[in-house]
Amino acid sequence: MDHPVSVLEIAAAASAAAGIAGALGTALRRRIDRLPADVDALAARLDAELPQTQCGRCTYAGCRPYADAMARGAAGPNQCPPGGDHTARALARLLGREALPVDRAYGEVRAPYVAVIDETRCIGCARCLPACPVDAIVGAKKRMHTVIAALCTGCELCLPPCPVDCIAMLPCVAIPPLPDG
Ligand code: SF4
Ligand code: SF4
Ligand code: SF4
Repeated sequence: MDHPVSVLEIAAAASAAAGIAGALGTALRRRIDRLPADVDALAARLDAELPQTQCGRCTYAGCRPYADAMARGAAGPNQCPPGGDHTARALARLLGREALPVDRAYGEVRAPYVAVIDETRCIGCARCLPACPVDAIVGAKKRMHTVIAALCTGCELCLPPCPVDCIAMLPCVAIPPLPDG
């Protein structure tokens, strides 16, 4: 026979539901906690496929943080424009996921570029120096600056700080080798 549901019964049902949700949350947290041993090894393998441009276009602070996010399942394998579609395929293979071309929302895929400073316009302000993640720019304050093309990864991070807009990105057709020593 039907009987009216009491406030106490509703409260008990809500409490039980909250308990189940809590238990599921705890189980999920345990599962996430258990992953890192494997995640770290996978992240290292993913990182080895990345171009190490450290440009941040993937929306992560650099290649290794992006690799970590992929290994945790928090990022897809098609977010790295400098790596191009070939890298996206390699990452997808490591993750056991469907291979997709790079999502152009993260940036254009193009041939490697290097930064070149127009030394006739450089005012030597040195603002580009700290922006370069690989120390490819040399120069002292109030002196002309230049880019060591063989070190430049083409990340473009030096462009915004330049107050006179004298840094251009050019296709790296032939990068001269570093001198010995
Ligand atoms: S977009 Fe690619 S190259 Fe740039 S930081 Fe991310 S993983 Fe590295
Ligand atoms: S010189 Fe500019 S483009 Fe080249 S690696 Fe440094 S910040 Fe990136
Ligand atoms: S930020 Fe521009 S002007 Fe300043 S040192 Fe670098 S290239 Fe020269």
